[in-house]
Amino acid sequence: MRIAVVSYSHETCTFCPEIGTLELWEKGGIKYGDESIVTKGEGKGYITGYKEVAEAEGDVELVGIIRTSWPATTGYGSWNTTESFDVISGRIMDRLADAGELDGVLLALHGAMAVTGIPRPEPELARRVRKVVGNIPIMVTLDLHANEDIELANAVDGVFILKTYPHLDSHETGVIAARCMVETVRGRFNPTMAHRRPGIVCASVFQASEYHPMKTVYDRCREWEAKGIYCASVAPGYAYSDVPDVGVSVFVVSDGDRALAEEAAQDLSDLVWSLREDLTRGLPKAEEGVAAVIEMVGKGEKPVVIAYHDDRLGDGTHILKELIDQGAKNWCSTGIADPKTLERLKEKNKVGDMVKATIGGWLHEISGEPVTIIGRIEHLGPAEWVETGPMRRGAEQKIDFIASLDIGENRHVIITERLYAPMSADPLKAIGIDVDSLDIVEIKSRVHHKAYWDTWSAVDYPIDPPGLGPADLSTLDYENLPWGIYPIGEKWDK
Ligand SMILES: [Zn+2]
Repeated sequence: MRIAVVSYSHETCTFCPEIGTLELWEKGGIKYGDESIVTKGEGKGYITGYKEVAEAEGDVELVGIIRTSWPATTGYGSWNTTESFDVISGRIMDRLADAGELDGVLLALHGAMAVTGIPRPEPELARRVRKVVGNIPIMVTLDLHANEDIELANAVDGVFILKTYPHLDSHETGVIAARCMVETVRGRFNPTMAHRRPGIVCASVFQASEYHPMKTVYDRCREWEAKGIYCASVAPGYAYSDVPDVGVSVFVVSDGDRALAEEAAQDLSDLVWSLREDLTRGLPKAEEGVAAVIEMVGKGEKPVVIAYHDDRLGDGTHILKELIDQGAKNWCSTGIADPKTLERLKEKNKVGDMVKATIGGWLHEISGEPVTIIGRIEHLGPAEWVETGPMRRGAEQKIDFIASLDIGENRHVIITERLYAPMSADPLKAIGIDVDSLDIVEIKSRVHHKAYWDTWSAVDYPIDPPGLGPADLSTLDYENLPWGIYPIGEKWDK
């Protein structure tokens, strides 16, 4: 049995300024053929899941076609150009055509890619693949932040979506998809899919899978799986893509039982709808949020992790400014993206130098004003570590260039080349920061950081300064939003 593997994904923040050109996709890195399925040193992912199934079967060969990294933007990339999509999908088609006889195709996609002129890129890619490979099974794995609708259900044989955020089950989801593929090719499984759209769009910061409301949803998915559904998936979606299929989607795959699949999909859709208010609540702004954190620390409720969740560019300074202005001590701001300042420090300075630097607030006016700091360089150069936290455990990690400034009173400001969030204390320790001496760690992340940092902190506190990934979606200028989608579609008059 020969199964082709294609991995092409992006989570597109269409409100962000950096267009995803072909050049930036190339710069981000694209692997082809056998090399595209080499996973040594990466930790676990969809492809290691496919491999586990293939190896256990013995007679299944995975045929590597392509694997892209994300385009090399500073923050989240904006609209991808039609050219980038046409050229990369063209390469996929050419290589599939040259791959010899195939029995199936595994598509590792994301589900929130946005492409100019192509309203639904994932089903479009699947249809192009179908044209080349003909009537063989196509199974798709998606990120939990997928925005998909009936078009994807119509274009492929099975859709399998992560159930964890922080994303810790991409390997397991790969296993589920690959097992379904193998059984389907052998004629022992009849993938039968049902799909629903509850009609809700919600911010990523409310989608953590181990907490209400999404835990309630995933528990129900597992109940349906215990009752005979092969795989029940709910993607809460990615609100920061202004696309016609934005929002929550439900995909249920059964073995030939249409009625059961439809019943489960409807039940899950109704459940999500009933939780809509919990999925769309408000959060404190920068000034009041930081004041609340300082008060918590004063009362001994510490350490606190501030999730500066809506900075999708990396250059946002709102929280850093408040930490300084409000006189907080013992904190680390873990990522102000400022490649020009880094370049200057690299050319003129060394560790130990006292420097004055004006950082951040350069990529977009929503990021806030640049902030001037004076401090001693405590790290300047690359950082390397092997990840011990739950996210990508075991992966060999490297940051090419990163700086940390000690600005006194145990306050540390980390300057990065692009949007960056530490997924554990490892990267901070790798640059010499004494993490356990801190009261406050500010991280530009929504939920992924919680996998590790919830084990370290007493409180995880998301704050909603101006940013391109806000909790309050009514602040964004959508043009392609579905009319009836809660809470910001035209129907809801918000
Ligand atoms: Zn995701």
